[in-house]
Amino acid sequence: MGNLVAIVGRPNVGKSTLFNRLTQTRQAIVDETSGTTRDRQYGKVEWGGHEFSLVDTGGWVVNSGDIFEEEINKQVSIAIEEADVILFVLDVMNGLTDLDMSVANILRRSKKPVIIVSNKADNFNLHLNSAEFYSIGLGDPINISAINGAGTGDLLDIIVSKFTKQSEEEPLEEIPRIAIVGRPNAGKSSMINALIGEERNIVTNVAGTTRDSIYTRFDKFNMDFYLVDTAGIRKKGKVTEDLEYYSVIRSIKAIENSDVCILMVDATQGIESQDMNIFSLIQKNRKGLVVCVNKWDLVENKEQVVVKTFEKAIRDRLAPFVDFPIIFTSALTKQRILKVLETAKEVYERKKTRIPTNKLNEILLPIIEHTPPPSNKGKYVKIKYITQLPNTQVPTFVFFCNLPQWVKEPYRRFLENRIRDHWDLSGTAINIIIREK
Ligand code: GDP
Ligand code: GDP
Repeated sequence: MGNLVAIVGRPNVGKSTLFNRLTQTRQAIVDETSGTTRDRQYGKVEWGGHEFSLVDTGGWVVNSGDIFEEEINKQVSIAIEEADVILFVLDVMNGLTDLDMSVANILRRSKKPVIIVSNKADNFNLHLNSAEFYSIGLGDPINISAINGAGTGDLLDIIVSKFTKQSEEEPLEEIPRIAIVGRPNAGKSSMINALIGEERNIVTNVAGTTRDSIYTRFDKFNMDFYLVDTAGIRKKGKVTEDLEYYSVIRSIKAIENSDVCILMVDATQGIESQDMNIFSLIQKNRKGLVVCVNKWDLVENKEQVVVKTFEKAIRDRLAPFVDFPIIFTSALTKQRILKVLETAKEVYERKKTRIPTNKLNEILLPIIEHTPPPSNKGKYVKIKYITQLPNTQVPTFVFFCNLPQWVKEPYRRFLENRIRDHWDLSGTAINIIIREK
Protein backbone atom coordinates (compact mmCIF):
# COMPACT_ATOMS: atom_id res chain seq x y z
CA MET A 1 0.00 0.00 0.00
CA GLY A 2 1.45 3.35 -0.99
CA ASN A 3 2.15 6.23 1.32
CA LEU A 4 0.15 9.40 1.03
CA VAL A 5 1.68 12.76 1.95
CA ALA A 6 -0.56 15.81 2.31
CA ILE A 7 0.45 19.45 2.12
CA VAL A 8 -1.56 21.72 4.40
CA GLY A 9 -1.38 25.36 5.41
CA ARG A 10 -3.12 28.65 4.92
CA PRO A 11 -3.25 30.32 1.49
CA ASN A 12 -0.14 31.90 -0.03
CA VAL A 13 2.47 30.14 2.06
CA GLY A 14 3.68 28.32 -1.07
CA LYS A 15 1.86 24.98 -0.97
CA SER A 16 1.28 24.68 -4.68
CA THR A 17 4.80 25.88 -5.45
CA LEU A 18 6.12 23.15 -3.16
CA PHE A 19 3.78 20.61 -4.73
CA ASN A 20 5.12 21.43 -8.18
CA ARG A 21 8.71 21.33 -6.99
CA LEU A 22 8.35 17.91 -5.37
CA THR A 23 6.35 16.26 -8.13
CA GLN A 24 8.93 17.31 -10.70
CA THR A 25 11.17 14.52 -9.46
CA ARG A 26 8.80 12.15 -11.11
CA GLN A 27 8.12 14.11 -14.26
CA ALA A 28 10.47 12.12 -16.48
CA ILE A 29 8.80 8.86 -15.61
CA VAL A 30 5.30 10.17 -16.03
CA ASP A 31 6.22 11.48 -19.46
CA GLU A 32 7.38 8.10 -20.57
CA THR A 33 3.89 6.69 -20.42
CA SER A 34 1.21 7.88 -22.73
CA GLY A 35 -2.03 9.51 -21.85
CA THR A 36 -1.06 10.77 -18.44
CA THR A 37 -2.01 14.25 -17.47
CA ARG A 38 -0.68 16.37 -14.67
CA ASP A 39 -2.92 18.16 -12.34
CA ARG A 40 -2.40 20.64 -9.60
CA GLN A 41 -3.50 18.60 -6.67
CA TYR A 42 -2.27 15.09 -6.95
CA GLY A 43 1.00 13.65 -8.12
CA LYS A 44 3.57 10.96 -7.58
CA VAL A 45 7.00 11.56 -6.12
CA GLU A 46 10.02 9.30 -6.30
CA TRP A 47 12.85 9.72 -3.86
CA GLY A 48 15.55 7.38 -2.70
CA GLY A 49 13.78 4.30 -3.96
CA HIS A 50 10.47 5.29 -2.42
CA GLU A 51 7.44 6.27 -4.35
CA PHE A 52 4.67 8.15 -2.68
CA SER A 53 1.58 10.15 -3.53
CA LEU A 54 1.44 13.83 -2.79
CA VAL A 55 -1.70 15.90 -2.44
CA ASP A 56 -2.00 19.63 -2.09
CA THR A 57 -5.22 19.99 -0.17
CA GLY A 58 -5.20 23.72 -0.86
CA GLY A 59 -5.38 23.05 -4.56
CA TRP A 60 -9.04 22.19 -4.24
CA VAL A 61 -10.03 25.41 -2.64
CA VAL A 62 -11.31 27.93 -5.08
CA ASN A 63 -10.79 31.56 -4.31
CA SER A 64 -8.09 30.63 -1.85
CA GLY A 65 -7.22 34.22 -1.10
CA ASP A 66 -10.41 34.57 0.85
CA ILE A 67 -10.80 31.36 2.72
CA PHE A 68 -12.54 30.79 6.00
CA GLU A 69 -10.77 29.37 8.96
CA GLU A 70 -13.40 26.69 9.27
CA GLU A 71 -12.76 25.51 5.75
CA ILE A 72 -9.01 25.23 6.28
CA ASN A 73 -9.62 23.33 9.47
CA LYS A 74 -11.80 20.81 7.66
CA GLN A 75 -9.15 20.48 5.03
CA VAL A 76 -6.57 19.73 7.68
CA SER A 77 -8.82 17.23 9.43
CA ILE A 78 -9.32 15.25 6.27
CA ALA A 79 -5.57 15.28 5.63
CA ILE A 80 -5.00 13.92 9.11
CA GLU A 81 -7.51 11.15 8.52
CA GLU A 82 -6.18 10.04 5.18
CA ALA A 83 -2.50 10.94 4.96
CA ASP A 84 0.51 9.09 6.36
CA VAL A 85 2.69 12.18 6.67
CA ILE A 86 1.61 15.82 6.79
CA LEU A 87 3.64 18.77 5.56
CA PHE A 88 2.57 21.87 7.43
CA VAL A 89 3.81 24.78 5.35
CA LEU A 90 4.60 28.13 6.98
CA ASP A 91 5.92 31.34 5.51
CA VAL A 92 9.13 32.73 7.07
CA MET A 93 8.69 36.03 5.30
CA ASN A 94 5.37 36.68 6.99
CA GLY A 95 5.79 34.79 10.23
CA LEU A 96 3.06 33.08 12.22
CA THR A 97 -0.54 34.19 11.85
CA ASP A 98 -3.73 33.29 13.71
CA LEU A 99 -4.71 30.95 10.91
CA ASP A 100 -1.38 29.13 11.26
CA MET A 101 -2.00 28.75 14.99
CA SER A 102 -5.45 27.36 14.39
CA VAL A 103 -4.07 24.75 11.98
CA ALA A 104 -1.28 23.93 14.44
CA ASN A 105 -3.85 23.30 17.16
CA ILE A 106 -5.55 20.65 15.08
CA LEU A 107 -2.30 19.05 14.02
CA ARG A 108 -1.05 18.86 17.59
CA ARG A 109 -4.03 16.71 18.51
CA SER A 110 -3.34 14.20 15.74
CA LYS A 111 -1.02 11.25 15.96
CA LYS A 112 0.17 11.52 12.37
CA PRO A 113 3.77 12.58 11.72
CA VAL A 114 3.87 16.30 10.95
CA ILE A 115 6.81 18.08 9.33
CA ILE A 116 7.03 21.83 9.78
CA VAL A 117 8.10 23.26 6.47
CA SER A 118 9.47 26.73 6.81
CA ASN A 119 9.08 28.02 3.29
CA LYS A 120 10.36 31.11 1.49
CA ALA A 121 13.68 30.76 3.33
CA ASP A 122 15.37 32.03 0.18
CA ASN A 123 18.48 33.23 2.00
CA PHE A 124 20.30 32.76 5.27
CA ASN A 125 18.79 35.77 7.00
CA LEU A 126 15.36 34.36 6.41
CA HIS A 127 16.47 31.01 7.88
CA LEU A 128 16.87 32.76 11.20
CA ASN A 129 13.22 33.80 11.15
CA SER A 130 12.14 30.20 11.38
CA ALA A 131 13.17 30.13 15.04
CA GLU A 132 9.69 31.46 15.74
CA PHE A 133 8.19 28.22 14.43
CA TYR A 134 9.65 26.18 17.30
CA SER A 135 7.06 27.83 19.51
CA ILE A 136 4.20 25.87 18.00
CA GLY A 137 5.59 22.66 19.45
CA LEU A 138 5.51 20.42 16.42
CA GLY A 139 9.22 19.80 16.06
CA ASP A 140 12.08 21.39 14.17
CA PRO A 141 11.18 23.59 11.23
CA ILE A 142 12.83 22.55 7.98
CA ASN A 143 13.97 25.57 5.99
CA ILE A 144 13.31 25.42 2.30
CA SER A 145 12.70 27.66 -0.64
CA ALA A 146 10.07 26.07 -2.80
CA ILE A 147 10.75 28.63 -5.47
CA ASN A 148 14.48 27.96 -5.91
CA GLY A 149 14.53 24.38 -4.63
CA ALA A 150 16.92 24.94 -1.72
CA GLY A 151 16.40 22.44 1.09
CA THR A 152 13.89 20.29 -0.75
CA GLY A 153 16.28 17.32 -0.96
CA ASP A 154 16.66 17.34 2.83
CA LEU A 155 12.91 17.66 3.16
CA LEU A 156 12.36 14.61 0.96
CA ASP A 157 14.87 12.62 3.03
CA ILE A 158 12.89 13.48 6.14
CA ILE A 159 9.56 12.64 4.52
CA VAL A 160 10.60 9.15 3.46
CA SER A 161 12.22 8.51 6.85
CA LYS A 162 8.76 8.90 8.43
CA PHE A 163 7.19 6.14 6.38
CA THR A 164 6.36 3.11 8.44
CA LYS A 165 4.46 1.23 5.76
CA GLN A 166 6.33 -0.71 3.15
CA SER A 167 5.45 0.71 -0.21
CA GLU A 168 5.02 -2.65 -1.84
CA GLU A 169 1.83 -4.23 -3.08
CA GLU A 170 -0.41 -6.21 -0.80
CA PRO A 171 0.24 -9.91 -1.17
CA LEU A 172 -3.22 -10.74 -2.40
CA GLU A 173 -4.34 -13.76 -4.27
CA GLU A 174 -5.39 -13.54 -7.88
CA ILE A 175 -8.66 -11.89 -7.03
CA PRO A 176 -9.73 -8.59 -8.53
CA ARG A 177 -9.74 -5.62 -6.21
CA ILE A 178 -12.58 -3.36 -7.23
CA ALA A 179 -13.10 0.22 -6.07
CA ILE A 180 -16.38 2.06 -6.52
CA VAL A 181 -15.61 5.75 -6.83
CA GLY A 182 -17.35 8.92 -7.88
CA ARG A 183 -18.55 12.18 -6.54
CA PRO A 184 -21.04 12.48 -3.71
CA ASN A 185 -24.59 11.37 -4.56
CA ALA A 186 -23.63 9.49 -7.70
CA GLY A 187 -25.03 6.39 -6.01
CA LYS A 188 -21.94 4.60 -4.69
CA SER A 189 -23.45 3.49 -1.41
CA SER A 190 -26.64 2.44 -3.14
CA MET A 191 -24.62 0.41 -5.60
CA ILE A 192 -22.67 -1.30 -2.87
CA ASN A 193 -25.85 -2.06 -0.99
CA ALA A 194 -27.47 -3.42 -4.12
CA LEU A 195 -24.46 -5.62 -4.75
CA ILE A 196 -23.89 -6.99 -1.32
CA GLY A 197 -27.29 -6.55 0.24
CA GLU A 198 -27.48 -6.77 3.96
CA GLU A 199 -24.79 -9.38 4.15
CA ARG A 200 -22.16 -6.98 5.24
CA ASN A 201 -21.33 -9.25 8.11
CA ILE A 202 -19.94 -11.89 5.78
CA VAL A 203 -17.00 -9.64 5.22
CA THR A 204 -13.62 -11.01 5.98
CA ASN A 205 -10.82 -8.63 6.66
CA VAL A 206 -7.57 -9.36 4.96
CA ALA A 207 -4.82 -10.23 7.34
CA GLY A 208 -1.87 -7.91 7.42
CA THR A 209 -3.68 -4.70 6.77
CA THR A 210 -3.50 -2.25 9.59
CA ARG A 211 -6.21 -0.12 11.12
CA ASP A 212 -9.59 -0.74 9.67
CA SER A 213 -8.95 -3.05 6.80
CA ILE A 214 -9.74 -1.52 3.48
CA TYR A 215 -10.46 -4.76 1.67
CA THR A 216 -13.71 -6.62 1.96
CA ARG A 217 -13.94 -9.95 0.25
CA PHE A 218 -17.09 -11.06 -1.49
CA ASP A 219 -17.96 -14.37 -2.84
CA LYS A 220 -21.27 -13.75 -4.53
CA PHE A 221 -22.93 -14.32 -7.85
CA ASN A 222 -20.26 -16.89 -8.65
CA MET A 223 -17.69 -14.19 -8.44
CA ASP A 224 -14.89 -13.70 -6.05
CA PHE A 225 -13.65 -10.18 -5.55
CA TYR A 226 -12.40 -7.63 -3.07
CA LEU A 227 -14.30 -4.44 -2.69
CA VAL A 228 -11.89 -1.68 -1.77
CA ASP A 229 -13.45 0.50 0.81
CA THR A 230 -13.73 4.14 -0.05
CA ALA A 231 -13.52 5.75 3.33
CA GLY A 232 -15.93 8.37 2.06
CA ILE A 233 -18.61 5.73 1.84
CA ARG A 234 -18.08 4.17 5.18
CA LYS A 235 -17.57 7.33 7.13
CA LYS A 236 -20.47 9.04 5.53
CA GLY A 237 -22.35 11.41 7.73
CA LYS A 238 -19.39 12.15 9.91
CA VAL A 239 -18.56 15.25 7.95
CA THR A 240 -20.37 17.11 5.24
CA GLU A 241 -19.42 15.80 1.87
CA ASP A 242 -20.10 18.90 -0.14
CA LEU A 243 -16.51 19.85 -0.66
CA GLU A 244 -14.79 18.51 -3.67
CA TYR A 245 -11.52 17.57 -2.04
CA TYR A 246 -13.36 15.35 0.39
CA SER A 247 -14.47 12.95 -2.26
CA VAL A 248 -11.25 13.23 -4.20
CA ILE A 249 -8.77 12.79 -1.36
CA ARG A 250 -10.84 9.94 -0.05
CA SER A 251 -10.85 8.28 -3.42
CA ILE A 252 -7.08 8.33 -3.68
CA LYS A 253 -6.43 5.40 -1.40
CA ALA A 254 -9.24 3.32 -2.80
CA ILE A 255 -7.97 3.90 -6.31
CA GLU A 256 -4.35 3.22 -5.47
CA ASN A 257 -5.27 -0.02 -3.80
CA SER A 258 -7.54 -1.32 -6.52
CA ASP A 259 -7.06 -3.12 -9.81
CA VAL A 260 -10.21 -1.85 -11.44
CA CYS A 261 -12.24 1.25 -10.63
CA ILE A 262 -15.93 1.62 -11.22
CA LEU A 263 -16.43 5.32 -11.80
CA MET A 264 -20.04 6.14 -11.00
CA VAL A 265 -21.54 9.14 -12.68
CA ASP A 266 -25.02 10.49 -12.26
CA ALA A 267 -27.07 10.21 -15.46
CA THR A 268 -29.04 13.28 -14.51
CA GLN A 269 -25.90 15.40 -14.05
CA GLY A 270 -23.41 14.32 -16.66
CA ILE A 271 -19.66 14.58 -16.26
CA GLU A 272 -18.39 17.53 -14.29
CA SER A 273 -15.00 18.68 -13.08
CA GLN A 274 -15.14 16.51 -10.01
CA ASP A 275 -15.71 13.40 -12.10
CA MET A 276 -12.80 14.53 -14.24
CA ASN A 277 -10.55 14.79 -11.19
CA ILE A 278 -11.38 11.29 -10.06
CA PHE A 279 -10.96 10.02 -13.60
CA SER A 280 -7.55 11.63 -13.72
CA LEU A 281 -6.57 9.85 -10.48
CA ILE A 282 -7.58 6.54 -12.01
CA GLN A 283 -5.57 7.23 -15.14
CA LYS A 284 -2.54 8.47 -13.30
CA ASN A 285 -2.47 5.26 -11.34
CA ARG A 286 -2.93 3.22 -14.53
CA LYS A 287 -5.95 1.42 -13.10
CA GLY A 288 -8.66 -0.39 -14.98
CA LEU A 289 -11.85 1.57 -15.61
CA VAL A 290 -15.53 0.88 -16.01
CA VAL A 291 -17.77 3.94 -16.26
CA CYS A 292 -21.15 3.39 -14.75
CA VAL A 293 -23.91 5.82 -15.71
CA ASN A 294 -26.20 5.45 -12.74
CA LYS A 295 -29.79 6.56 -12.04
CA TRP A 296 -30.69 5.39 -15.52
CA ASP A 297 -34.22 4.81 -14.22
CA LEU A 298 -34.61 8.59 -14.11
CA VAL A 299 -33.84 9.00 -17.79
CA GLU A 300 -37.11 8.74 -19.64
CA ASN A 301 -35.99 8.47 -23.20
CA LYS A 302 -33.78 5.42 -23.44
CA GLU A 303 -33.75 5.02 -27.18
CA GLN A 304 -30.60 3.73 -28.72
CA VAL A 305 -29.74 7.14 -30.11
CA VAL A 306 -29.93 8.67 -26.63
CA VAL A 307 -27.66 5.97 -25.30
CA LYS A 308 -25.19 6.67 -28.08
CA THR A 309 -25.31 10.40 -27.39
CA PHE A 310 -24.61 9.74 -23.73
CA GLU A 311 -21.71 7.49 -24.55
CA LYS A 312 -20.24 9.96 -26.97
CA ALA A 313 -20.55 12.85 -24.52
CA ILE A 314 -18.72 10.86 -21.87
CA ARG A 315 -15.93 9.76 -24.18
CA ASP A 316 -15.54 13.30 -25.48
CA ARG A 317 -15.11 14.59 -21.96
CA LEU A 318 -12.59 11.93 -21.04
CA ALA A 319 -10.61 12.05 -24.31
CA PRO A 320 -7.98 11.14 -25.33
CA PHE A 321 -8.49 7.99 -23.31
CA VAL A 322 -11.77 6.70 -24.70
CA ASP A 323 -11.39 2.95 -24.77
CA PHE A 324 -13.39 1.82 -21.76
CA PRO A 325 -16.74 0.15 -21.14
CA ILE A 326 -19.76 2.24 -20.21
CA ILE A 327 -22.69 0.60 -18.45
CA PHE A 328 -26.07 2.20 -17.77
CA THR A 329 -27.35 1.17 -14.38
CA SER A 330 -29.87 1.80 -11.71
CA ALA A 331 -28.79 0.97 -8.21
CA LEU A 332 -32.40 1.60 -7.25
CA THR A 333 -34.02 -1.01 -9.50
CA LYS A 334 -30.83 -3.11 -9.63
CA GLN A 335 -30.77 -2.86 -13.37
CA ARG A 336 -27.49 -4.21 -14.80
CA ILE A 337 -25.68 -4.10 -11.49
CA LEU A 338 -24.26 -7.57 -12.06
CA LYS A 339 -23.15 -6.52 -15.48
CA VAL A 340 -21.00 -3.90 -13.80
CA LEU A 341 -19.21 -6.50 -11.72
CA GLU A 342 -18.79 -8.82 -14.68
CA THR A 343 -17.36 -6.02 -16.78
CA ALA A 344 -14.94 -5.04 -14.03
CA LYS A 345 -13.81 -8.66 -13.94
CA GLU A 346 -13.26 -8.63 -17.70
CA VAL A 347 -11.17 -5.47 -17.47
CA TYR A 348 -9.13 -7.15 -14.76
CA GLU A 349 -8.49 -10.12 -17.03
CA ARG A 350 -7.58 -7.87 -19.95
CA LYS A 351 -4.87 -6.22 -17.93
CA LYS A 352 -3.06 -9.52 -18.14
CA THR A 353 -3.16 -9.59 -21.93
CA ARG A 354 0.06 -10.88 -23.49
CA ILE A 355 0.53 -10.24 -27.19
CA PRO A 356 3.16 -12.40 -28.85
CA THR A 357 6.06 -10.42 -30.33
CA ASN A 358 5.61 -11.83 -33.81
CA LYS A 359 1.95 -10.78 -33.89
CA LEU A 360 2.80 -7.28 -32.69
CA ASN A 361 5.40 -6.80 -35.39
CA GLU A 362 3.36 -8.48 -38.09
CA ILE A 363 0.40 -6.19 -37.53
CA LEU A 364 1.95 -2.92 -36.40
CA LEU A 365 5.06 -2.59 -38.57
CA PRO A 366 3.11 -2.28 -41.83
CA ILE A 367 0.84 0.33 -40.24
CA ILE A 368 3.88 2.25 -39.02
CA GLU A 369 5.48 2.00 -42.42
CA HIS A 370 2.35 3.42 -43.98
CA THR A 371 2.08 6.23 -41.40
CA PRO A 372 5.53 6.84 -39.95
CA PRO A 373 6.25 9.44 -37.26
CA PRO A 374 6.45 12.89 -38.84
CA SER A 375 9.98 13.84 -39.83
CA ASN A 376 11.60 16.55 -37.80
CA LYS A 377 14.24 18.90 -39.23
CA GLY A 378 14.95 16.46 -42.00
CA LYS A 379 15.37 13.54 -39.62
CA TYR A 380 13.33 10.40 -40.09
CA VAL A 381 12.34 8.11 -37.26
CA LYS A 382 12.50 4.46 -38.11
CA ILE A 383 10.66 2.07 -35.79
CA LYS A 384 12.25 -1.31 -36.24
CA TYR A 385 10.87 -3.63 -33.66
CA ILE A 386 8.11 -3.91 -31.06
CA THR A 387 7.81 -6.09 -28.03
CA GLN A 388 5.66 -6.31 -24.92
CA LEU A 389 7.45 -6.30 -21.58
CA PRO A 390 6.72 -9.26 -19.32
CA ASN A 391 5.30 -8.97 -15.79
CA THR A 392 4.06 -5.40 -15.79
CA GLN A 393 1.05 -3.94 -14.00
CA VAL A 394 -0.54 -2.96 -17.29
CA PRO A 395 0.34 -4.02 -20.83
CA THR A 396 3.54 -2.19 -21.70
CA PHE A 397 4.90 -2.04 -25.22
CA VAL A 398 8.39 -1.02 -26.23
CA PHE A 399 8.97 0.45 -29.66
CA PHE A 400 12.63 0.35 -30.65
CA CYS A 401 13.76 3.02 -33.05
CA ASN A 402 16.72 5.14 -34.09
CA LEU A 403 15.59 8.54 -32.73
CA PRO A 404 13.27 8.04 -29.74
CA GLN A 405 13.35 11.71 -28.74
CA TRP A 406 11.53 12.66 -31.94
CA VAL A 407 8.49 10.53 -31.24
CA LYS A 408 6.02 12.94 -29.72
CA GLU A 409 2.79 12.51 -27.79
CA PRO A 410 0.39 12.51 -30.78
CA TYR A 411 2.26 9.68 -32.42
CA ARG A 412 2.39 7.68 -29.19
CA ARG A 413 -1.35 8.05 -29.02
CA PHE A 414 -1.58 6.90 -32.61
CA LEU A 415 0.42 3.78 -31.70
CA GLU A 416 -1.71 3.17 -28.64
CA ASN A 417 -4.89 3.46 -30.68
CA ARG A 418 -3.65 1.03 -33.34
CA ILE A 419 -2.89 -1.49 -30.61
CA ARG A 420 -6.39 -0.97 -29.23
CA ASP A 421 -7.88 -1.41 -32.72
CA HIS A 422 -6.42 -4.86 -33.02
CA TRP A 423 -6.57 -6.21 -29.50
CA ASP A 424 -9.37 -5.79 -27.01
CA LEU A 425 -7.89 -3.76 -24.17
CA SER A 426 -11.05 -1.89 -23.27
CA GLY A 427 -10.84 -0.36 -19.82
CA THR A 428 -7.15 -1.10 -19.46
CA ALA A 429 -4.40 1.46 -19.37
CA ILE A 430 -1.43 0.69 -21.57
CA ASN A 431 2.08 2.06 -21.55
CA ILE A 432 3.98 2.96 -24.65
CA ILE A 433 7.74 3.20 -24.31
CA ILE A 434 9.92 4.45 -27.13
CA ARG A 435 13.50 3.31 -26.83
CA GLU A 436 16.68 3.53 -28.83
CA LYS A 437 17.58 0.37 -30.65
P1 GDP B 1 -0.44 28.46 -1.77
O1 GDP B 1 -1.63 29.35 -1.79
O2 GDP B 1 -0.06 28.05 -0.38
O3 GDP B 1 -0.57 27.25 -2.68
O4 GDP B 1 0.80 29.31 -2.27
P2 GDP B 1 1.48 29.43 -3.73
O5 GDP B 1 2.32 28.24 -4.01
O6 GDP B 1 0.44 29.81 -4.70
O7 GDP B 1 2.48 30.63 -3.47
C1 GDP B 1 2.03 31.90 -3.03
C2 GDP B 1 3.07 32.95 -3.44
O8 GDP B 1 4.30 32.71 -2.74
C3 GDP B 1 3.40 32.90 -4.92
O9 GDP B 1 3.56 34.22 -5.37
C4 GDP B 1 4.72 32.16 -4.94
O10 GDP B 1 5.51 32.52 -6.06
C5 GDP B 1 5.37 32.59 -3.67
N1 GDP B 1 6.34 31.60 -3.17
C6 GDP B 1 6.14 30.27 -3.03
N2 GDP B 1 7.26 29.67 -2.56
C7 GDP B 1 8.18 30.66 -2.40
C8 GDP B 1 9.55 30.68 -1.95
O11 GDP B 1 10.16 29.67 -1.60
N3 GDP B 1 10.14 31.89 -1.90
C9 GDP B 1 9.51 33.03 -2.28
N4 GDP B 1 10.19 34.17 -2.21
N5 GDP B 1 8.25 33.05 -2.72
C10 GDP B 1 7.57 31.88 -2.79
P1 GDP C 1 -23.18 8.24 -2.81
O1 GDP C 1 -23.01 9.56 -2.14
O2 GDP C 1 -22.42 8.20 -4.11
O3 GDP C 1 -22.87 7.06 -1.95
O4 GDP C 1 -24.71 8.18 -3.26
P2 GDP C 1 -25.94 7.41 -2.57
O5 GDP C 1 -25.89 5.97 -2.83
O6 GDP C 1 -26.05 7.85 -1.15
O7 GDP C 1 -27.14 8.02 -3.42
C1 GDP C 1 -27.47 9.39 -3.43
C2 GDP C 1 -28.96 9.56 -3.69
O8 GDP C 1 -29.28 9.06 -4.99
C3 GDP C 1 -29.81 8.74 -2.74
O9 GDP C 1 -30.94 9.52 -2.47
C4 GDP C 1 -30.15 7.50 -3.50
O10 GDP C 1 -31.38 6.95 -3.11
C5 GDP C 1 -30.25 8.02 -4.91
N1 GDP C 1 -29.89 7.00 -5.91
C6 GDP C 1 -28.78 6.22 -5.94
N2 GDP C 1 -28.80 5.41 -7.00
C7 GDP C 1 -29.95 5.67 -7.67
C8 GDP C 1 -30.55 5.15 -8.87
O11 GDP C 1 -30.01 4.30 -9.57
N3 GDP C 1 -31.74 5.70 -9.25
C9 GDP C 1 -32.35 6.67 -8.54
N4 GDP C 1 -33.51 7.12 -8.96
N5 GDP C 1 -31.82 7.18 -7.40
C10 GDP C 1 -30.65 6.68 -6.96
